[in-house]
Amino acid sequence: MTKSSQERCIQCRLTIQDCICRDMSAFWVEHKITLLTSKREERIISNTGRLLRWMMKNVSPVYMGENGWEEEIKSEIMRTDYTPVILFPTPPVCYGQTMVEETGKPLNIFVLDTSWKNARRWLHKPLLLPVKKIGLKTTPPSVYHLRKHPGQDYLCTFQAVTLLMAELRPGGFDAAIIQINEKFKLWVKSLARERGMSITATRP
Ligand SMILES: [Zn+2]
Repeated sequence: MTKSSQERCIQCRLTIQDCICRDMSAFWVEHKITLLTSKREERIISNTGRLLRWMMKNVSPVYMGENGWEEEIKSEIMRTDYTPVILFPTPPVCYGQTMVEETGKPLNIFVLDTSWKNARRWLHKPLLLPVKKIGLKTTPPSVYHLRKHPGQDYLCTFQAVTLLMAELRPGGFDAAIIQINEKFKLWVKSLARERGMSITATRP
């Protein structure tokens, strides 16, 4: 039996023996994540937006191009309980914390969960153009070694969002962040091993 035909966990999509979902409960943050994704992306085993959806509460997906996606985005932008922002590493960058202080509201963070090429395309959709872009204050090297990315500053969805959460609430949920980051590293390691990839600590 090949690895790909082995039974997989429906959440983390690792083989049952490698599953990272045990002892794991989703944690709550006051900011909302609106995950812009696609059915195709969601089916990819190495997709990290899917991991976010079960590790964090307050995450909802919008499937780009599917029936009603524009209305869904519009209504997310119009919400009065949050300030809408897009997390994307493009200068000039505002910081999430500044936005929270200025508006006094939690953020509704639009995250483009797709390839970098697609993300740039989605970013230029007329609906999303007026939404402010925010970036990370510091960008550590990527720990996601499963797909190519254009450079050091380009993090996968999971790492970018968890770093942002840590920046927005310094010290607020250290233990939870540490736990989900450990789980994430295990997940990357298991998938890399399945694919016969070798990971070294220094690889960007
Ligand atoms: Zn699992």
